[in-house]
Amino acid sequence: MSKTAKSPDTLFTGDVYINPVKAKSEPSRLIASIVRFTPGARTNWHSHALGQTLHCTDGVGGLVVSRDGTVIRLTPGDTVWTPPGEEHWHGAGVDCMMSHLAMLEGVEDGDGTTWLEPVTDEQYAAAQPD
Ligand code: MN
Repeated sequence: MSKTAKSPDTLFTGDVYINPVKAKSEPSRLIASIVRFTPGARTNWHSHALGQTLHCTDGVGGLVVSRDGTVIRLTPGDTVWTPPGEEHWHGAGVDCMMSHLAMLEGVEDGDGTTWLEPVTDEQYAAAQPD
């Protein structure tokens, strides 16, 4: 159950490793994973049908960025909620690994995540602190 999976290049940029913690098993809808991003790695833009809770466990400089330009800097111990349907991405900073526990609730036919286009290098750079 906890075998590490490498993230697919179609959904992430850079190297990301995912350890499943809990798969959806009705009646529970909880899906939980520990996700480890190498420096510079990030998800594509995406949204979650029922929202998502991210709890940062390790690393300095992690980011959660939403379409309206809001940038949240992650420090270990921080918890961030992304509302249902809100387009966002998350990932490591430029020079440090970042790990978070990702928790979401699945929908009838899957995990409810809608995957979109990659975060460009320009978008990633723009989210970094001065
Ligand atoms: Mn997300």
